[in-house]
Amino acid sequence: VTSKLPQTGTTIFTVMSALAAEVGAINLSQGFPDYDCSPHLVHLVNEAMKNGHNQYAPMAGVMQLREQIAYKTEKLYGAKYNPETEITITAGGTQAIFTAISAVIHPNDEVIIFEPAYDCYAPAIKLMGGVVKSLELEPPNYRIAWDMVKRLISNRTKMIILNSPHNPTATILHKEDIDKLSAIVKDQDILILSDEVYEHLIYDGETHHSMARYPELQKRSLIVASFGKLCHATGWKIGYCLAPDWLTQEFRKIHQFIVFSVNTPMQYAIAEYIKNEDVYLDLPQVFQQKRDHFRNGIEQTRFKLLPCHGSYFQSVTYSDITDEKDAEFTIRLAKEFGVASIPTSAFYNKGIDNHILRFCFAKRQETLDNAVDRLMRV
Ligand code: GLN
Repeated sequence: VTSKLPQTGTTIFTVMSALAAEVGAINLSQGFPDYDCSPHLVHLVNEAMKNGHNQYAPMAGVMQLREQIAYKTEKLYGAKYNPETEITITAGGTQAIFTAISAVIHPNDEVIIFEPAYDCYAPAIKLMGGVVKSLELEPPNYRIAWDMVKRLISNRTKMIILNSPHNPTATILHKEDIDKLSAIVKDQDILILSDEVYEHLIYDGETHHSMARYPELQKRSLIVASFGKLCHATGWKIGYCLAPDWLTQEFRKIHQFIVFSVNTPMQYAIAEYIKNEDVYLDLPQVFQQKRDHFRNGIEQTRFKLLPCHGSYFQSVTYSDITDEKDAEFTIRLAKEFGVASIPTSAFYNKGIDNHILRFCFAKRQETLDNAVDRLMRV
């Protein structure tokens, strides 16, 4: 067969986690916690199973969970989503993103993405015959140059993909970005896919500018969120998509034939778990403390910190250490120094290398300390 994605290899997260395991490195590459989720949450799954919630969930997801999501979204962002027609539970953020793109992108439709970009956007666009229009963000602040976005817009522009807090750069959208975006899409037939899987991981008292806050943007947005991050349980692979009725109808046409529905007992458990709002309202504090601890550690090394406003990723430059390519240096760092990271070039179609690595700090303090000890030897 002719490959449908000839330029695509194995995702960097799989590659680096495998290397970390192989060489016994501390794994700060793929983003996931190295501590367990709440025992109460596990108990709730048990209860759901004992109570016989072991058959197919409704195609769009367990209603109790969709209702809790509607409650949370209205409380946090002031937006009303109808659980019946506008909320769909997915097998993680990545499936929601793939489904959203497949639901609306036709051959030759143009999609604007900002690079560095999470690695699943471009392949999904290409599979649908869409055209990736990428705009590079400049380190260290990686702000979007909206005048450049304006220039990229054509009559074939179907979608803009946003991601705030941003993976891998840990930057966030500001109100100013929202205003400029709103001006650009006003009166245009442009959809927004907003990857908000790190919505609760935002620091220093900053506001998460969800598309759900802005009616003019909300009405054209598919918003993707993740319980893996909210529940510290990335292996559960449960997320959701918020979208207006007409977009949700298209989304579900695809969703039903990709996964049909998502595993039932965990949806019941999460619905119960998030009734306690503290489980997500406490997240900024929990992760900010880890961020600060890790940043203090990195300051004692020869790596230089980039800003971190959200997500659980910290970028660093190593230009003062070596001029090796980032893809090579991450391998050496894992093998010789025992710390696995992600090379930021993996988030660019053209493999742009600014000598920047991404570390995940969703780890126990002890793990972060051990990693810093090792990085001090570099
Ligand atoms: N989002 C996670 C990260 O950036 C990884 C997800 C995955 O491995 N598919 O590390």
